[in-house]
Amino acid sequence: MEKIVSLGKRRGFIFPGSEIYGGLAGTFDYGPMGVLLKENIQQLWLALFRDSRDDMYGVDAAILMNPKVWESSGHVAGFSDPLVGCEKCKRRFRADHLDDPRRCPTCGGTLSEPRAFNMMFKTHAGAMEDESAIVYLRPETAGGIFVNYKNVVDSIHPKLPFGIAQIGKAFRNEIAPRDFIFRLRELSQMEVEYFVRPPEWEAAFDAWRATMHAYADALGLPRDAVHEFEVPAEDRAHYSKRTIDFEFDYPFGRKELWGLAYRTDFDLSAHQRGSGVSLEYLEDETKEKFIPHVIEPSLGVDRTVLAVLVSAYREDELGGETRAYLALSPRIAPVKAMVSPLLKNKPELVAKARAVYAALKREVPQVAWDDNGNIGKRYRRQDEIGTPFCLTIDFDTLGQENQTAPWLTDTVTLRDRDSGAQERLPITDAVARVKEAIR
Ligand code: ATP
Repeated sequence: MEKIVSLGKRRGFIFPGSEIYGGLAGTFDYGPMGVLLKENIQQLWLALFRDSRDDMYGVDAAILMNPKVWESSGHVAGFSDPLVGCEKCKRRFRADHLDDPRRCPTCGGTLSEPRAFNMMFKTHAGAMEDESAIVYLRPETAGGIFVNYKNVVDSIHPKLPFGIAQIGKAFRNEIAPRDFIFRLRELSQMEVEYFVRPPEWEAAFDAWRATMHAYADALGLPRDAVHEFEVPAEDRAHYSKRTIDFEFDYPFGRKELWGLAYRTDFDLSAHQRGSGVSLEYLEDETKEKFIPHVIEPSLGVDRTVLAVLVSAYREDELGGETRAYLALSPRIAPVKAMVSPLLKNKPELVAKARAVYAALKREVPQVAWDDNGNIGKRYRRQDEIGTPFCLTIDFDTLGQENQTAPWLTDTVTLRDRDSGAQERLPITDAVARVKEAIR
């Protein structure tokens, strides 16, 4: 983990939140490379869970919602973790994360009886800071989907089964944020609520389960590091008839990466009762009315980013040196290719490299220019970022210059990140190779 945290900071992926002020527990900021990686991971999710299907729709709901949403959903009464405090050193812990819930793991002191600690962040909407103005930062994105179920049905008229997908921030006042970006107080989620006729639930559950595995494969997570855990009835939320946790082998243990739950009609029924607005679905043909049931694949973005980094991190010996690199799938790599002149003080090399860079950038987003330091250093830097290809323009490129069809005949070296091997090939072929890899 230390190596990943340090690479994350060194290469501009992930920084501690508010770092120059000493940080803020449970918050991290994504830097220039992290933002691209996170966006690519989200884009891949959108492609698989929403855009490649014709039964999925998107919403982007507000983070602040009417507090009644969270009363109906059960979060105000029950979204809590068991909190214990040490009577000696005053530290606080989550009782269900301790081996011995009576003994302080830090100083050995006696711990208090557990009390339910609600994890929702509260704030006030408007100028009055009284009870009536309390609103919560949403603890999951799902709430914004359920309250828009009727709006989507009324505006788009989808036929069951159909689903609504959303990516967004959620906030949980975790008692003990830890393990880098694994347990955060401010996190991002990618959630689907998939509405079905009650007898359809099992088929839909299995189909989403397969999609989640396909997503894990596309992200490059090794199959033997992803495990399904069938949550036993006594540990499931009261409304869930079936839950599978997708667990991942993080360096700190096997932990929940994503969840898949059959939530029955619990949420829509609760919001119908709470709002007094009918959330029944009307069958076109039979005119039957009922509350749809729901399958929910729920994926944390940050836990996914961490699983991707853990899976991609490699060390090997190359050219007599130990190097670290990220073997990221080209599709999610923050930079797809780096273009570089062999020497930066040779104007003719720089001009040619600039032309290749501009041409590649028109075809492939996320291409980088790098002329800092010697070429070996540039390669090492790109290896740590996970850049699959480096194109270098050298004197051979110039030597072969052909004014009639320069792209076809001029050659560059294309370096492969994982093997470090370099190949000389025409510019058009190098560009095609990069495009093929990210397709
Ligand atoms: P845990 O048991 O680890 O606290 P959870 O069961 O409460 O997690 P869910 O409510 O099922 O988590 O949330 C759905 C997904 O959101 C999780 O599978 C995870 O990917 C992500 N997630 C939940 N809590 C956090 C957190 N504090 N920091 C980062 N991601 C989180």
